[in-house]
Amino acid sequence: MPRRPTFALDCDGLLADFNKSTFQIIEDLTGIRYTPADFSEWNYFRDSRINPHASAIWDRIKEEGRCLNYSVLPGVREGLSRLREVANLFVCTSVVKSRNYVPERIVWLERMGFDFKTEIVFTYNKRLICADVLVDDEPKNVDFFKAVHPDKVAVLWRTPGDTRDYFPVTEGVEKADDWDTLVALARRLTC
Ligand SMILES: [Mg+2]
Repeated sequence: MPRRPTFALDCDGLLADFNKSTFQIIEDLTGIRYTPADFSEWNYFRDSRINPHASAIWDRIKEEGRCLNYSVLPGVREGLSRLREVANLFVCTSVVKSRNYVPERIVWLERMGFDFKTEIVFTYNKRLICADVLVDDEPKNVDFFKAVHPDKVAVLWRTPGDTRDYFPVTEGVEKADDWDTLVALARRLTC
């Protein structure tokens, strides 16, 4: 029986459309509609146009029901289904510290078919996890994971709709923006 690789999957930017919701909040607060292409930094909260509103934005992100109602990114349902056929999956997500965010995320992930007890990990420190592959859209997460686990695979994910080039990452980090690539990677790692 071949050994299936284990994938740790980020949630925001890979499964859940955090940006769609957050850019709507920003528009409501500032009257300006932004897209990822308007920012040169991955973390647009650091941008001088956004930073003055950061506290108000985070307050709205923490509102009850916000996390529960994130849209599923395009291609995720089919992609997850295909990847599950060739790999073991769990979600590794850093969440907002608030009364409702974690419980709502659990419900959201359960709706996507993830088991609460065995397939959901909450941490900002993703280098702690044990997996054959980490897929994440945040450059520092994949960089740290690769640095700590050089024999494992780190994949920088580019979210659908983000027209920017991949952000710079350390040598050896792989890149993907479609589920076909992840399925092919799983097959490559099956041993
Ligand atoms: Mg993310």
